[in-house]
Amino acid sequence: MRKVINLEDLRDARTALPGSIGFVPTMGFLHEGHLSLVKRACRELDSVVVSIFVNPTQFAPTDDLDAYPRDLERDIALLQEAGADLLWMPNNEVMYPPDYQTWVEVGEITKPLEGEKRPGHFRGVTTIVAKLFNAVQPQVAYFGQKDAQQVAVIRQMVRDLNMPIEIVASPIVRERDGLAMSSRNTYLNPDERQAALVLSTSIQKAKFAYDNGERDAGVLRAKMEEIINAEPLARLEYVSCADYVSLAELDIIERKTLISMAVYIGKTRLIDNLILE
Ligand code: AMP
Repeated sequence: MRKVINLEDLRDARTALPGSIGFVPTMGFLHEGHLSLVKRACRELDSVVVSIFVNPTQFAPTDDLDAYPRDLERDIALLQEAGADLLWMPNNEVMYPPDYQTWVEVGEITKPLEGEKRPGHFRGVTTIVAKLFNAVQPQVAYFGQKDAQQVAVIRQMVRDLNMPIEIVASPIVRERDGLAMSSRNTYLNPDERQAALVLSTSIQKAKFAYDNGERDAGVLRAKMEEIINAEPLARLEYVSCADYVSLAELDIIERKTLISMAVYIGKTRLIDNLILE
């Protein structure tokens, strides 16, 4: 696996890669969720590029960007083992040089859910992903369904800007007990780690109700809220039962639906979701 930092080296290395190119953008501190994307890309395409960049513009000023977990050596070993061909690790000077002034902003689809709770977040995401796409020029890019709205936003951007890139969304990888894998799980102390199960448990309860015929979205939201509110270490930010395409909140479930939530466990903000087909 080749490792590059600056744009010229990336372009040279990219040009030297044979065949079709798959791309997996990440912020590092890799776990099996990230690696599932890399391994899938390796199966489906000739060459695979991975990026690691903790993108400052998608964090709020109040977020502790410096505390975001990092372990580059471990990441490199994991990517090598997973079969990646090229690792791009740009720094802030490469991505946002002095006098940087161009932003990519997607409309309606960025407004509810994560976009409502994290103003400016998706502007940072779409800007950095557009820049990464322009540099790597992959045929296919892989994202995790864990960040369901992010997938919808990227798909919208790619459509709207005529980017010739296929976006593949891959299923959420979970710990044995159901907790969705996340680099942020590392912030949880043992009590919080246990409490964090309210996310996946409440989603499973909602799915059970749905599978047994419940179609009232308000009832599903209330079931999830009840479970989360019963956990003293959890603070609910939102639960949603929304149309999969528009992400608008539903009264009655009639089509493909996204159940999603954001919950603080102590100081750590976690998200989880499930698609009801
Ligand atoms: P991040 O490093 O958090 O920006 O994540 C990089 C990519 O990995 C994104 O497309 C995420 O959606 C994806 N990802 C993160 N966690 C998981 C997971 N548990 N399962 C599947 N994909 C994931």
